[in-house]
Amino acid sequence: MGSAALHPSYENRLPYAKILFYKVSPAVITIALSKGRIFDETLPLLNAAGIRPSEDPERSRKLIIGTNQREVRVIILRATDVPTYVQYGAADLGVAGKDVLDEQGGQGLYQPLDLNIARCRMMVAVRNGFDYQRAVRQGARLKVATKYVQTAREHFAAKGVHVDLIKLYGSMELAPLVGLADAIVDLVSTGGTLKANNLVAVEEIAPISSRLIVNPASLKLKRKAMQPILDAFFEAVA
Ligand code: ATP
Ligand code: MG
Repeated sequence: MGSAALHPSYENRLPYAKILFYKVSPAVITIALSKGRIFDETLPLLNAAGIRPSEDPERSRKLIIGTNQREVRVIILRATDVPTYVQYGAADLGVAGKDVLDEQGGQGLYQPLDLNIARCRMMVAVRNGFDYQRAVRQGARLKVATKYVQTAREHFAAKGVHVDLIKLYGSMELAPLVGLADAIVDLVSTGGTLKANNLVAVEEIAPISSRLIVNPASLKLKRKAMQPILDAFFEAVA
């Protein structure tokens, strides 16, 4: 056998192979959460997966939070932005309310698990004394104010009720009180906020809870790192 010299084409490739080799590090897993109830209620599930965030997003201003696992990090987003980050693969997985997923369509996401956290209901509410059933029966054109325009549009279309939708970004409860709208579509849990503002819920649109959402490409490419996290979530919820 002759020399140990490599074929020239391999020799050329070697340095590149080396660079590639050094660059391949363990897959970093990015988990997208929103602060408040979703972060708080996801924390026990993360703990079940052996993941402990190193900071409390309520106290820290950091948007990227490390964890006790070097290759796992948490990013803190506005609740409505969580599906977007996961869709584009900027986060590998996340937790988002069904309200947000319904409103945005949830395209390009796996939704493998209902985490049964942040439970509430999507409801239609009106000012105390407003005869909602009668307005609907009479085919009146309802003015509806909401942050959930798409959800409201679909709900009233299915009922055959004509509505004028007014998009709001918060404090929906105010709208019927000052004559901006006849009704609102909003999340209700205890009903305390409605009551405090002299409103009543008149119709349930859907029960709401938060879902685990996963980027399909991440699952393929980082399966080994992601599977234990997903398994722990499934087990903790079962
Ligand atoms: P903000 O209230 O600061 O404007 P937000 O409404 O986007 O922000 P949260 O109020 O923390 O954020 O809601 C996040 C998610 O928690 C919602 O998408 C919904 O799924 C759930 N949620 C909202 N309100 C309630 C509630 N009253 N009870 C239970 N879960 C809720
Ligand atoms: Mg809110």
